Amino acid sequence: MAKFTIAVHGGAGTILREELTPEMERQYLQGLDEAIEAGYRVLTEGGKAMDAVMAATVVLEDNILFNAGKGSVFNKEGGHEMDAAIMEGEHLEAGAVACVHNIRNPICLAYEVMRNSPHVFLSGKSAEAFARAHHVKMEPDSYFYSEFRHQQWLAVKDSDEYLIDHSAIDADARDRKFGTVGAVAVDQQGNTAAATSTGGMTNKQFGRIGDSPVIGAGTYANNRTCAISATGHGEMFLRAVAAYDVSCLMEYKGMSLEQAMGVVVNQKLPALQGEGGMIGVDAQGNFSMIFNSAGMYRGVRCSDGYRETSIYR
Ligand code: ASP
Repeated sequence: MAKFTIAVHGGAGTILREELTPEMERQYLQGLDEAIEAGYRVLTEGGKAMDAVMAATVVLEDNILFNAGKGSVFNKEGGHEMDAAIMEGEHLEAGAVACVHNIRNPICLAYEVMRNSPHVFLSGKSAEAFARAHHVKMEPDSYFYSEFRHQQWLAVKDSDEYLIDHSAIDADARDRKFGTVGAVAVDQQGNTAAATSTGGMTNKQFGRIGDSPVIGAGTYANNRTCAISATGHGEMFLRAVAAYDVSCLMEYKGMSLEQAMGVVVNQKLPALQGEGGMIGVDAQGNFSMIFNSAGMYRGVRCSDGYRETSIYR
């Protein structure tokens, strides 16, 4: 039996110890733990990496602390538009949705697109019509509301500013956090998968799409190299084609997962002022969690007994 691993993230940014109360810290770590356990259970039972990353991501989407599904940030119109993508590394199958409203678990809709449509990427009304036709769970607007993120939006709604989750009005670097969620896994068969889901950025223009649902930017999986889920300032991750670049460095330059992620997160993204991080696994069960920001909500569990959940550097 090959070594199997699941890793999750709940966003990166300027997450400082002095800004989180011990109780908040406990809640975040517990949220990460619950997601890891949901995914790990699938893997121990011999399930697919794809199902493990779905299970973990659904737990994070259902947790109001994270900026995905329930608790998504507000866009410029005061609504929630969510993006998500899922990819598996054996056949390079992928599904993605962007700018969707009222979908309880956007990652499940991305999965549905992958499995039951001839397309990879659906957006807006088309994705929502597809969701209804495939009985994907919908929720009223009120389900996505969180007081904290509403206040965050009220503070900037009359400006042209768009902010990463938890940003201060002046985008003061101290307060920058990205709350997107994601998971990567490799199963007992050595198959990899990646999933990412997000509400995007506070006060973003309607129709704005970040890196999370874009295959190769925020999400990518390929058994020959790695599975990656990213979080950070989406515009820069798009321009860097960040997730696929890790795969390319492994495939064409022979780098290890850790080396390749290090180059992208600590060299290529900073050159574009791209703040954030990513989690990755390879088909051998190795994992890496690298960020160039102060912190990243993250966790991992491997079949060799290793486990960790952490927030700060
Ligand atoms: N990358 C996401 C986006 O730009 C934000 C995040 O990671 O929190 O939409």
